[in-house]
Amino acid sequence: MATTSLDLAKVRNIGIMAHIDAGKTTTTERILFYTGRSYKIGEVHDGAATMDWMAQEQERGITITSAATTTHWPLDDVDYTINIIDTPGHVDFTVEVERALRVLDGAVTVFDGVAGVEPQSETVWRQADRYGVPRICFVNKLDRTGAEFHRCVDMISDRLGAIPLVMQLPIGTESDFKGVVDLVKMKALVWSAETKLGEAYETVDIPDTHVEAADEWRGKLLEAVAENDEEMMELYLEGQEPTEEQLYAAIRRVTLASTGAEGTTTVTPVFCGTAFKNKGVQPLLDAIARYLPSPLDVEAIEGHSPKDPEEVVKRRPSEEEPMSALAFKIASDPHLGKLTFIRVYSGRLHTGSQVQNSVKGRKERIGKIYRMHANKREEIESVGAGDIVAVMGLKQTTTGETLSDASNPVILESMEFPAPVIEVA
Ligand code: GDP
Repeated sequence: MATTSLDLAKVRNIGIMAHIDAGKTTTTERILFYTGRSYKIGEVHDGAATMDWMAQEQERGITITSAATTTHWPLDDVDYTINIIDTPGHVDFTVEVERALRVLDGAVTVFDGVAGVEPQSETVWRQADRYGVPRICFVNKLDRTGAEFHRCVDMISDRLGAIPLVMQLPIGTESDFKGVVDLVKMKALVWSAETKLGEAYETVDIPDTHVEAADEWRGKLLEAVAENDEEMMELYLEGQEPTEEQLYAAIRRVTLASTGAEGTTTVTPVFCGTAFKNKGVQPLLDAIARYLPSPLDVEAIEGHSPKDPEEVVKRRPSEEEPMSALAFKIASDPHLGKLTFIRVYSGRLHTGSQVQNSVKGRKERIGKIYRMHANKREEIESVGAGDIVAVMGLKQTTTGETLSDASNPVILESMEFPAPVIEVA
């Protein structure tokens, strides 16, 4: 059985948020497809298998992801582990969205390129602001009649009050949408007209028709990053062009620092494409790895002692710390029965160990631990800080409760849910 000790710097715990119909499911499916194809675990596992599985799921019409799905994506020869936490798209599930927001580190917001910012995109955006979740945006459906990338970007700034960093410019519109200008690399990424699922893009010179716009928007990008980042500002004032690496690093710093929490303005890199037509998802995956936070970017999570709510206890995302984990979703698996999805914040959790449900003050025994992949589950022996897994065998733990080392109990910051509205007749 695998004992995986993850390099936390290479872990991304993310959610994908959107107004219903914007393309969250399609984008997620494509992400699972591309990531499944690029990574082999245990048995032979290739694109075709993922496709078969996807076709099956679609036939049955059930949701494609579990509460959390683990995938992998290589960028610059580094393997990133991406845990995708399901965030329900419908406004009725606002409380569930809040639970998901509590355990994820970063998010991708998907917009419909025709409709732009819609009411539910606004709702989830505000929730993410409240939790200070760093975000990148994906303007989807650029193949549709009436899609306008720049209108959507303007809405991100006008309606959401955010500072969009335009990272790409679309090449071609509607059915003629071909690809994007990458404003960091200053290259064009183009796909074939009828891009098959999984097809790679070609990196070519920016077409003559787009050179002027690319220069203009590159300038705006550098200026916007500089306004929000001292290091970049210095280069900018000296009239120096940043290297690709400097620019990546600065955009990452800005995205992590400006998250909407406590009245600050959210700065958000914006990408575009069409998930349905398989254009734009690979660069989006690169962006997830490049710009969204790792569990290490949160210095420590705060909780309190079960004995004294006033006594603040901090846990750093390290295996040296006592174990603490938060249960964020209870699900029923057709084969395994009750599964509790947890995020481990500190220490390491082992199968068969006894832990304390510090909210209820009761002992719980950890049964099997599973990493949930898109089309299979993998039993693992233990799980460390920063990671997200499903656990079997918890009898009394409910959503929002903390599991901790029995001799070092902590209650992690409880989630505050809005009080139910009571209608008086
Ligand atoms: P969700 O409600 O946000 O999960 O949206 P879905 O992924 O289910 O997509 C809603 C509808 O839009 C479906 O009919 C999709 O096939 C379609 N769709 C998703 N992405 C695109 C896209 O890039 N272009 C076009 N034309 N349709 C898309």
